[in-house]
Formats: sequence, structure tokens, C-alpha cells
Amino acid sequence: MYYKYELKTNNEAFYNITDMVDDAIKKSGVESGICLVFCPHTTAAITINENADEYVAKDVILASKTAFPKLEGFRHDEGNSDGHVKCSMFGASETLIIDKGKLVLGVWQDIYFAEFDPPRNRSFFVKIIEG
Ligand code: ZN
Repeated sequence: MYYKYELKTNNEAFYNITDMVDDAIKKSGVESGICLVFCPHTTAAITINENADEYVAKDVILASKTAFPKLEGFRHDEGNSDGHVKCSMFGASETLIIDKGKLVLGVWQDIYFAEFDPPRNRSFFVKIIEG
């Protein structure tokens, strides 16, 4: 089994989901293991980055828009190919260590749901494996 969480996104931005992942670990009761956070969408992603300065996430979004802009040559009818490209570049999942019932993250790290095609009703899954 796995845990499912939902969120509503309004902007192309990073949404901090660390508390929801912590909630899944707490519910599982697992003290030591691996935690997989998975995004089941094709224009969004899961990523880890700095939690101290909010401008870091904004800067990464700005850089991703610059690196992967809407191109005139895109042929996908929905018109959101830039979001699909960013989805693949950032990736659909992150794998984390659980120790003593808590996520092992760097001091400045948090887990983010990255939205590249807002607004949307989104979800993500957390799978916890004991070991
Ligand atoms: Zn599309």
C-alpha cells in the first residue's frame, strides 16, 4: 500500500510537501527504511531543494523557464510541452532515507512538488519500505 496526498496549485512554483511526507512516515510507524515520493502527472515533478530562502525556489523556476521555454516548433496540441519537458528534466520521484522514524534530510533541504502547468488539482504518492 501507499499514501496519497492532494494539493491545489495556482502558480508555476515549488510547493513544500515535506510535512505531508512526514505525515506518511508517522502513519506507517516505520522507524528505519526508504521513502519514495512519486508524482503521477506529466507536467509536474518532485524535487529537493533549499528551504531557508524562498527566493531559491523562485530562482530555480525562473531558470527552468529560461532553459526550457515554450518553443514555436512544439507540436503537442495541448500547448504545454514546456511543462512536459520540465517534468522529464526534474523527474517524477525522489527516494529518501528514514531513520529513527524521521526523514534524513540536509539542514537546508525540503521536498517540493514542482508545478509546471497551473492551475491544477494534483496528487502525489508516498511509498514506505521498512528495512
Ligand atoms: Zn500536454
